[in-house]
Amino acid sequence: EADRLRQDKSIKIVYAEGLVPKPVRTFEEASFPDYVLDEINRAGFKEPTPIQVQGWPIALSGKDMVGIAETGSGKTLAFLLPGIVHINAQPELVRGDGPIVLVMAPTRELANQTQEECNRFGKSSKIKNTCCYGGVPRSTQQRELREGVEIVIATPGRLIDFLESGDTNLKRVTYLVLDEADRMLDMGFEPQVRKICSQVRPDRQTLMWSATWPRDVQKLARDLCKEDPVHINVGSTEL
Ligand code: ADP
Ligand code: MG
Repeated sequence: EADRLRQDKSIKIVYAEGLVPKPVRTFEEASFPDYVLDEINRAGFKEPTPIQVQGWPIALSGKDMVGIAETGSGKTLAFLLPGIVHINAQPELVRGDGPIVLVMAPTRELANQTQEECNRFGKSSKIKNTCCYGGVPRSTQQRELREGVEIVIATPGRLIDFLESGDTNLKRVTYLVLDEADRMLDMGFEPQVRKICSQVRPDRQTLMWSATWPRDVQKLARDLCKEDPVHINVGSTEL
């Protein structure tokens, strides 16, 4: 039955050691808490997109994953909602010592869009986030980081600045997201991305998202994810 649902939604499990969590048919089946379901209902979404159908149960299971799906297919919420659940599952929230969830994005525009979804879906659970990118003064971003946030959404260059200045640190990051990994590499951010990831504890959960799956992204996934990331591919994207 899981296989039929995957077939219906053009979901391919490309590589996975061991069991892949079953895809979910509905938002309720993903067993999100009420504060997430309420927001989904408020947004008026009818059903999960295919990358969410299979991405949510994997992300919620704590496994590393690679999700490949075309632009506009709902990848942001595929990693953000499990990230919010991840934060709320922490035994105690002590604010002020670096984020728990780090989302790296290649551009300011993308970081801003991700923050908007984050504000919308995280607001009822009092999660604080900040968005860090270059080309604007540091002061507001710096103040928010120092006050403490659970989620940082950042472009690599500005995040490295803040790490070097000691305005934040990544010691508490246990849920690491690399969004638009292909664009990140096209834009030449690989050294920065690797540098940032090397500061995150090795037992973190790592989730990589991309619209395409070229060799350099494959290599990065091998280096950043634990041994056996679940790799899912939606639609006709060539491997
Ligand atoms: P991607 O990152 O794959 O390019 P986005 O995450 O930006 O795509 O999503 C594109 C749009 O679809 C956003 O406006 C988002 O709010 C919306 N969206 C996400 N999930 C769903 C859903 N299950 N049903 C309807 N719309 C959705
Ligand atoms: Mg996206």
